[in-house]
Amino acid sequence: MTSFETIAIHAGQDADPTTGAVIPPIHVTSTYVQDGIGGLRGGYEYSRGGNPTRTALETQLAGIEGGAFGLSFASGLAAEDALLRTVLGPGDHVIIGNDVYGGTHRLIRRIHGGKGVEHSTVDTSDLDAVAAAIRPETKILWVETPSNPLMKLSDIAALVELGHSRGLLVVVDNTFASPALQRPLEFGADVVVHSTTKYLGGHSDVVGGALVLNDPELEEQVRFTQFAAGAVSSPFDAFLTSRGIKTLAVRMERHSSNAQAIAEHLVGHAAVARVLYPGLPTHPGHELAARQMSGFGGMISLDLAGGEAAARKFAESTELFSLAESLGGVESLVNYPSEMTHASVKGTPAEVSPSIVRLSVGLEAAADLIADIDGALASL
Ligand SMILES: *Cc1c(COP(=O)(O)O)cnc(C)c1O
Repeated sequence: MTSFETIAIHAGQDADPTTGAVIPPIHVTSTYVQDGIGGLRGGYEYSRGGNPTRTALETQLAGIEGGAFGLSFASGLAAEDALLRTVLGPGDHVIIGNDVYGGTHRLIRRIHGGKGVEHSTVDTSDLDAVAAAIRPETKILWVETPSNPLMKLSDIAALVELGHSRGLLVVVDNTFASPALQRPLEFGADVVVHSTTKYLGGHSDVVGGALVLNDPELEEQVRFTQFAAGAVSSPFDAFLTSRGIKTLAVRMERHSSNAQAIAEHLVGHAAVARVLYPGLPTHPGHELAARQMSGFGGMISLDLAGGEAAARKFAESTELFSLAESLGGVESLVNYPSEMTHASVKGTPAEVSPSIVRLSVGLEAAADLIADIDGALASL
């Protein structure tokens, strides 16, 4: 098993040894019979600590990111929180991108900030700015690329080199690209974070999160936090996520080709001031994206010429693109970040301009999606 597509379908997904069921069963159990005190069958004791359906997903997650260990959580933020709790203490400092997912910013600022963790928000596409923000107390460099919603590209290998030279743990949120298009551990990142709610699940029917990493010592510590704090995924959620991952490679190809067609169509449109999509040669991160990713993904942001009023009207006018938070499902969604996904960062350096709308381009026919967008733009 060396190809991504093959790993995604087979890692952790062995047929059930007792029945031959091709799909491993969903182990709906909270606890496990012991053969005498401490006589565990297969190492399972209680499902907060471990469940075979979750193990199957965790093996699959490690496989698709090319990492040694995968850990699955109840949500992306639960995964992030488990990592942050494990690594940080009062007085420690984190550097995060200035347009990371709003919930990541909120978690670090309001939950961990309240416990004495400090943070700086910087443009992680600017290495000098990152270097200048490092303090003696800095423990984590948190990178999201492409970023959300501005689609800025950050150079993972360069950030890893800088971060490691200063003793930092380099964490990459790989939710937007997915491992079908980008594998941060191959560039030396220490930890990959996912909201599996998005492309990995892929069908907008499950909330989940994951960490993938290589260091056995860190794995042991994070595994303890997962067990002791308990934000684990349920067996049903783990199953749905595993099922989604099996089609990730083909889905990402179509997400990318649909998004490319839409982005190219919108360049030069009078109602659109800027099309933010790394697949456009004019995108400032295009060359880096071509080097770091094997496709440009399904996310596009538009900066509308008519400003806030136009952006709001557009977001409420599309028909195929449903107005909803989240992304990465088979169906197309439109989001108005400044009032929706990024409302929690208003008034902070991570605030998103009110003229921006974000599209999660689904797997419908590109022509239908383009017609829907043209219709909404014509109504402005
Ligand atoms: C959605 C999202 C998260 C948070 O994940 P949840 O599953 O909603 O908790 C983190 N990072 C990015 C980039 C996201 O899009």
